Amino acid sequence: MRVAVLSDMHGNATALEAVLLELDSQLVDHIVCLGDMVGYGARPGLCVRLVREYSDAVIRGNHDRAVLRPEEAGSFNDAAAAALEWTRARLTDDEYAYLSSLPASRHHPGMLLCHGAPSDPGRYISGLRQAATEFARFTETVCLFGHTHVPACIHAPRGEHAFADCDATHPSPGRPVGLRRDLRYLLNPGSVGQPRDLDSRAAFMVVDTGTSSATLRRVPYDVGAEQARMAAEGLPARLIQRLAVGV
Ligand code: ZN
Repeated sequence: MRVAVLSDMHGNATALEAVLLELDSQLVDHIVCLGDMVGYGARPGLCVRLVREYSDAVIRGNHDRAVLRPEEAGSFNDAAAAALEWTRARLTDDEYAYLSSLPASRHHPGMLLCHGAPSDPGRYISGLRQAATEFARFTETVCLFGHTHVPACIHAPRGEHAFADCDATHPSPGRPVGLRRDLRYLLNPGSVGQPRDLDSRAAFMVVDTGTSSATLRRVPYDVGAEQARMAAEGLPARLIQRLAVGV
């Protein structure tokens, strides 16, 4: 089974459409989405509709939740809060209903899907120290997570283990990382719509349970076209500029 893992498209339908086009040649059996379809980009409604149409399993992210519950946007920075406010006025009732129907986490055969961390959808796993305590919070072989917008492949031995037993493999685009039977994994596909690893290309991951591997994919898309859409909508300049750099 080949599973395409998409996360954090953030209203950037230009990037999401490029990824979906690329998936035509990837021969995947399932597409799963780890949330944050909205917030930041110029076409949040289209992102919601595309994810809904093409994904087999979807969970909500913190932005998807905050767009439904404004009182939870308190921790957002000014640009994120402004983009969320703009987004809130543009989603249809149908898109709201879909977002509010999504769970915070869910199971897919052999995998757990979560947005930030198994222990908390809003927690950032940005290194081994945060990851180490999370392995005890799920029972599946693989936990898929997003939220940081940085691809990651972190592993730990099955069963009880010390912090020193956790390690990470840097995922390089197009190069499969073998998934060992004696290990469990926390895998992050990076972000479709707002990468933050100094690579502006859209990111996603393919997990192949047949060959026991995970492969990061990068897809170039028309960043300038998305920036022009955002500028035309009056979205914050900082959010527009960062797309070109991947921060
Ligand atoms: Zn996000």
